[in-house]
Amino acid sequence: MKENEEKYLRKYPGLTSEEVIASREKYGKNKLEEDKKESIIIKILSIFKEPMFLLLLIAASIYFIVGEYADGIIMLIFVLGICTIEFIEESKTEKALEELNKLSTLNVKVIRNGKKEIISSEEIVVGDIVILEEGDQTPADGKVLYSQSLGLNESTITGETDIVYKNTKEDKENYFKLNYCYSSTNVTNGYGIIRIENVGVNTEIGKIGKSLNEIEKEKTPLEKQINKLVLICTIFSAIVFIFTIIINFMNYPALPLKERIVESILAGITIAMATIPEEIPVILTVFLAMGAWDLTKQNTLTKNMKAIETLGKVNVLCTDKTGTLTENKMKVEEIYEHNKEFKEVAYYACPLLAYDPMEIAIKNYLKSKIKTKKYKNIIKEYAFTPETKMMGILWDNNKLCVKGAYESVLPLCDLDSETYKVIEDKINEYTQNGYRIIAVASKENLEKIPKKLENARLNFNGLLVLNDPPRYGIKKSIFSCNTAGIRVIMITGDNGETARGIAKNIGIKNYENVITGQMLEKMTDEELFEKVKETNIFARVYPKHKMRIVSALQKDNKIVAMTGDGVNDATALKKSDIGIAMGKRGTNVAKESADIILLDDNFNTITAAIAKGRNIYKNIRKAISYIIVIHIPIALLSLFVPIFKLPTLMEPIHIMLLELLIDPTSSIIFQRIKTEKDIMFEKPRKPDEPIINKKTAIRSILQGLLIFIVTFINYILLLKNNINQNVAITITYTTLVLSIILVSFELKSKESTIKSIISSLKDKLALTINLGIIICLLALIYIPFLNKVASTAPLNLLEWLYIILLTSIAVLPFDLLKYKKNN
Ligand code: ADP
Ligand code: MG
Repeated sequence: MKENEEKYLRKYPGLTSEEVIASREKYGKNKLEEDKKESIIIKILSIFKEPMFLLLLIAASIYFIVGEYADGIIMLIFVLGICTIEFIEESKTEKALEELNKLSTLNVKVIRNGKKEIISSEEIVVGDIVILEEGDQTPADGKVLYSQSLGLNESTITGETDIVYKNTKEDKENYFKLNYCYSSTNVTNGYGIIRIENVGVNTEIGKIGKSLNEIEKEKTPLEKQINKLVLICTIFSAIVFIFTIIINFMNYPALPLKERIVESILAGITIAMATIPEEIPVILTVFLAMGAWDLTKQNTLTKNMKAIETLGKVNVLCTDKTGTLTENKMKVEEIYEHNKEFKEVAYYACPLLAYDPMEIAIKNYLKSKIKTKKYKNIIKEYAFTPETKMMGILWDNNKLCVKGAYESVLPLCDLDSETYKVIEDKINEYTQNGYRIIAVASKENLEKIPKKLENARLNFNGLLVLNDPPRYGIKKSIFSCNTAGIRVIMITGDNGETARGIAKNIGIKNYENVITGQMLEKMTDEELFEKVKETNIFARVYPKHKMRIVSALQKDNKIVAMTGDGVNDATALKKSDIGIAMGKRGTNVAKESADIILLDDNFNTITAAIAKGRNIYKNIRKAISYIIVIHIPIALLSLFVPIFKLPTLMEPIHIMLLELLIDPTSSIIFQRIKTEKDIMFEKPRKPDEPIINKKTAIRSILQGLLIFIVTFINYILLLKNNINQNVAITITYTTLVLSIILVSFELKSKESTIKSIISSLKDKLALTINLGIIICLLALIYIPFLNKVASTAPLNLLEWLYIILLTSIAVLPFDLLKYKKNN
């Protein structure tokens, strides 16, 4: 309460800024683990740990050992280039993840310098005065200074699930004292103020050694698939590596032994470099992290990366009504005064300081209409719970004012059947249109204070009719879910008729069918399993019902996203495939249990996030498919050229230029592909569909084979026709590079490759990367010094035309295929 809060701000002004700093110096930060900030040197060293760079370095050293310094130096320049790209990329990813982490840490209300502040739990120091309210998590161990039915669930440290009520009395009996609150326990009831006495590792939970925000470390399905893919590719490249060394060694029996060994090892390294799939894991981390980062700009905070992957396959979306589908800007539309006390009772059935938009609306509406001064102090408050769906306040004039859902309040009132009928008719009239009805009742001169509101007997006073308009754009969002194959289910504590009225308004399908909490109570799990297949509205439910609904849907193999805000939503949020907490209205507990947090509580944001999630997944698929396509010709050329005893086509320097192209293309260009316009017109992907499904796999392999066949046959023909060997190498290599560039455009979009190239011209980064590579290529071709190093030769116009022709043959057939499919 405001008056009280101001009193406590004065009574407990908290630490000053200087004291905070001093305390942190003395007792440390409120963190269980120390920051593991990697130094730049360690980061650079970790890049060198990768097999790719080891190979590069070995190759470079071999060049230096055998005295081919030019090759060696160029090699090192490339190493530097690749390192730089990787380094920039990694720092970008890391920064995004760090920011995400910061955004999702626990917020704590403290009093410092006599003012209330919201800070992250890490910032808490010994001596801080912390305010705890329902839904908060205790940030560190502290002594209770004030408790107003402050109840906590301490199961995280004690395993005991019963609510523990705290008070200020010294407790010498229990180990977990009743006048202390402990870090990582959740407030389920009431209000309290504590003074922090221990932070970080000195807290009880710190002693147990559990992490505050225990991060799930289990591998996601996508990670598992990717790891498998990487393993297969690695085994493949190991086999090819050994194979190539052997072939090359046997190919040059005339050479001196030392040279034979050096040559064959170089060839082996070349092919290993070409085939090690080091880009694939990079793609996964970069795409997910950058995707999560992009999502924050869309008001969606991702707490674990798995969520992004799952977003794309969500096919059922269970959502709250009030505040998510609607604005939560309640307005009193009408009142029904059963007797003349109605207005004052309705007014005083709201807390002194109202936070709830509905109560604010009620008080604003009635403020000017009541004149009584009979209500001064509150004796007892019966808090609203989603189970009772009502609340009451007992005032010092011995009057109990109650308001709540009419289903809850009317049964407590003594009404004759005639009056009841009149009220019921009124209610039916209003609910049809999606209005919310609140019944108001009271009792004067109480003889005994009832323990629970449900036990009270009351006199009926009247009804409040409230309206909460749907959010702007909600119809479009629901429509887009419908076309995207995502079923929208509304789960609300509100009345069935009200829910139905709103559902009809905003386009939720099958709105006639409503299941209420009462009906649900009577259903067995099997019955619910059947019902849940077609019911889209659940009304007057309790939070615990959410759990049953999720389970029933999941038993039907649905991928369920579920929104929630309250303490009691936590289990359902955890159980659902994607738990979505409300950023504004949600409690800390809900946010802790969720996978993503909606910063604006808006349903439209969920739809946007799903579209983005689908896009990220698609981009990962496109990038991996690109990697597969282009590695096939590279690997096969490196393998078949020595087998056919043809002059060496690709040396390390050639491979490195390719790497310089492939790395940024796969991880930067593909990551930045914009969401396809019709992405919400596609069905969700099947839950068990692998990232590279059969179709994509076959297509990628064929596409890669075509490039290989065209380049390889061309190489054989050129050599057969006695074309200068270096010219032949240059033509073949150039064709390969251009094909790889062209393939990236082909795979990027659903449009034709030409269109894709044109629209990419606007993307400066893509342009820079591709132009950079083409300039490097031209340098290899036209700078005499590099000609020697790379066994290349200058090309004439005719040869260029020939290359363009070859490239078109190698890539464009798949473009035509795409064209045919689109028409
Ligand atoms: P929703 O799913 O719409 O958020 P709630 O669980 O918040 O539903 O509320 C369920 C019902 O409880 C409402 O329809 C209303 O009748 C009643 N209710 C909600 N808030 C209050 C309140 N502050 N005081 C009295 N009754 C309330
Ligand atoms: Mg609500």
